[in-house]
Amino acid sequence: MTPLALFDTHTHFDVEDFDIDREHLAYQAKAVGVERLILIGFVQERFANLIDTHHYLNRLIHTPQSYLAPGLHPFYIEQHQDSDLLNLEQILKNEQCIAIGEIGLDTFLKQHKQPELLQKQKDFFVAQIELAQQFNKPILLHIRKSHADVLQILKHHHFKQGGIAHAFSGGIEEAKAFIKMGFKLGITGQITNPNAKKLHAVVQAVGVEYLVLETDCPDMTPLCCQSLQQHRTRNTPANLTFVLQGLAATLNRTPEQIAPIVWENSLQALHLSA
Ligand SMILES: [Zn+2]
Repeated sequence: MTPLALFDTHTHFDVEDFDIDREHLAYQAKAVGVERLILIGFVQERFANLIDTHHYLNRLIHTPQSYLAPGLHPFYIEQHQDSDLLNLEQILKNEQCIAIGEIGLDTFLKQHKQPELLQKQKDFFVAQIELAQQFNKPILLHIRKSHADVLQILKHHHFKQGGIAHAFSGGIEEAKAFIKMGFKLGITGQITNPNAKKLHAVVQAVGVEYLVLETDCPDMTPLCCQSLQQHRTRNTPANLTFVLQGLAATLNRTPEQIAPIVWENSLQALHLSA
C-alpha cells in the first residue's frame, strides 16, 4: 500500500542536529509518505548551509523534494543587521525560493518587549513583507504573543500573497482573521497533546480546509515519539504521519479523508500548481 502523500511545510532539517544521519532520515521520511518539505531560514549566518542542504537533498533520490524559504526570524532579532536584508534579496534573486520565512513578531521573552527591540522586530518584519511583495512570494509567519500586531502590519501593507501562520498558537478569532488575510494555519505535533485544548478548539472551529501540516523539526516532537530517557527527543520529518493522525483524530475524520485536503491546502498556500 502506498502511504498518504504529505507535505512538511516547516522544517529546520538543515541544522546540526541532523548532520550525522540526514540522508537516512530523508529516506525514512519519503518511505512514510513525506513527498515534500520546506527548509526554513532563521539567521543570516546559516543561509549558506540552508542552501547547500536544499541542493544536497534534491540530488538524492527516494527522498522528499526540498523547497527553500530563507528569512530572518524575529526571535533572533539581536543578531540581524541591515546587510542581512540585502543578502536575503540576493538569495531571492539567485535561488528558486518558495517563500520568505520564518518572519513575524515574537514577544515571548521580556527583553523582546523593550521598545527598541520590538521596533527592530517590526522593521525587519516590514522589510521582509516588502521583499515578499517585490518577488511575489508567500510568507511563513512566526508569531508568539503578538497576533494583533502582526495582523495590523499585514493589513497596513495590503499584503495579498498569503502563506502559512506556522505552529499556530492564537485563538479562534485570530485564526479566522489570518484565514481572511489568505493564510493557512500550520499544525505541529502539539495537536497530539490532549492538554492542548485551545489548539483543539481552533482546529475544530476552522475545519480542515484552512490547515496544513508541519513538524518544525528538530522541535515540537509529537507526544507519542518523545522518549522518557532523553531530556529532549529530536523531532524528524518522518514524524509528520503522527501529526496527520493527531489532526484526523481531533477532527473526527480519518487520515485518508484529510490527507488530500491538507496537501491541496499546502499547494495553494505556497502558490504551487501541482
Ligand atoms: Zn521554525
